Amino acid sequence: MDINPHHVFYLFKSMFEERYGCFNISNLKNQNSVDSNIATELFNMFISLCDESSEIIIEDSLDMNREGSEFVDNEDGNENNINELDDSLSQEFNSQMYEIEKYIKNKFTEAREKRLPVHDIDLRRWAIEEARRIELNKFKGSPSFIKNLKFRLRICSRKVTKLVTKNYSNEKVETEERKAAHLQFTNSKIPQYNLDFIMNSNQSGFSKEYFSTRTLSFRGEKDTLQSVKSISNTTHSYTIQPIITASGKLLSPMLICLQETTGNEFGPRVSLEIIKNTPNNLIVVCSKSGKLTKEHVKKWLAGCLIPQIKEKTLVLLDRWSGQTEDFLMASLSPEKADSVEVITIPPGTTGLCQPLDVYFFRQSKIFVRAIYNQMMLESTEQETHDRNFFLKIHSLVHNQLTADVFRPMLQYAWYKSGYHVADPGKFRNVNEVCFNKEQILDDCAICENSVFIKCAHCNKSLCLKDFLEKICWH
Ligand SMILES: [Zn+2]
Ligand SMILES: [Zn+2]
Repeated sequence: MDINPHHVFYLFKSMFEERYGCFNISNLKNQNSVDSNIATELFNMFISLCDESSEIIIEDSLDMNREGSEFVDNEDGNENNINELDDSLSQEFNSQMYEIEKYIKNKFTEAREKRLPVHDIDLRRWAIEEARRIELNKFKGSPSFIKNLKFRLRICSRKVTKLVTKNYSNEKVETEERKAAHLQFTNSKIPQYNLDFIMNSNQSGFSKEYFSTRTLSFRGEKDTLQSVKSISNTTHSYTIQPIITASGKLLSPMLICLQETTGNEFGPRVSLEIIKNTPNNLIVVCSKSGKLTKEHVKKWLAGCLIPQIKEKTLVLLDRWSGQTEDFLMASLSPEKADSVEVITIPPGTTGLCQPLDVYFFRQSKIFVRAIYNQMMLESTEQETHDRNFFLKIHSLVHNQLTADVFRPMLQYAWYKSGYHVADPGKFRNVNEVCFNKEQILDDCAICENSVFIKCAHCNKSLCLKDFLEKICWH
């Protein structure tokens, strides 16, 4: 059977009208099944785009008169009745419709502000409530009225992605207040320090195996599977603890805590291996959970933070490190202790005003994930979940992220968190610097392989193998 594009488009248009207007096309669909399938496919794509994004196309083509004829379910079934009304009546009708819509909008906004669930039936109930109040007694709130209304108010059905308690709103206000107080206090201190000596440090957990939450796959398949070496590797984590400065520097060395069955100490054989393989920009510790303990905090202070304190220093930490301040002060000489100030980022606000959380960690995860995924695709021999692999990856990622090109990005993390540092303006992030889409056309600077990364320091294009060989180690 030939495909008739005009017919496809006509069906598509009709489906659109049926959804957002009041037009029944079920009898049209059977006329040509190929056209109908194509139109349905197009229509479903379009609808899923609309439903998935809150940016629904603002509709202005349906004028109120036409909608009016659809809003009222006339008892005698004659839909043209309303169109025959004279202008003044129709104007009154429009203003009544406007009242109903306004009422629903307020009720809906109020309910969603309280995070209550709302369904079509509730919209309809509100519509009828208001219609009765304004004495529009014939009004029944037909399904097409509800469809139209949802379209105009940009309301669509969405999957609930997070559960919150009723106190959430209060908590949110308290969090906002805590955040504002913290920012005000910290910002009053910032001018007293050199930006190189305003530091933020926090820990972030990494999975041993990275998996993409999306992949290209075949349409219509029931399950979309992805291979990993071990499911537990995707949850069990190891931890990094970097330090960044308000001037946009990522400091070295960085602490990394691996997960080891032996607990807080590596076994003797592994210990030798770690000493041999640890790159100079990392300090390696371990624990059973892969998370940091008090002992690790002391090691972090001695190995990472204290060596950086060369003048008056302001350190922003969150509450997990409640004892960090005590440990820190205890390990500093009295005169050095005088020059260090620690500010605790209030609980609940770290996602909002901890620079590392606000921008940095996501970027370092993008980096690690890119390496991991490429290794899986290239099926490199390298054991992707042994400890030397993590050490190598993190030392390379750390080395890349210390590049000057990322300083504006780190400054932005502070700026975005609300601290009074200069707006760095337009900056380039990890994807833009290292994994930009244009580079795929280049060749590796060392061999014939295709390019995986552009070095953030020297702009050299490298394949994955040469990148892992530390050809670019700056
Ligand atoms: Zn190469
Ligand atoms: Zn380089």
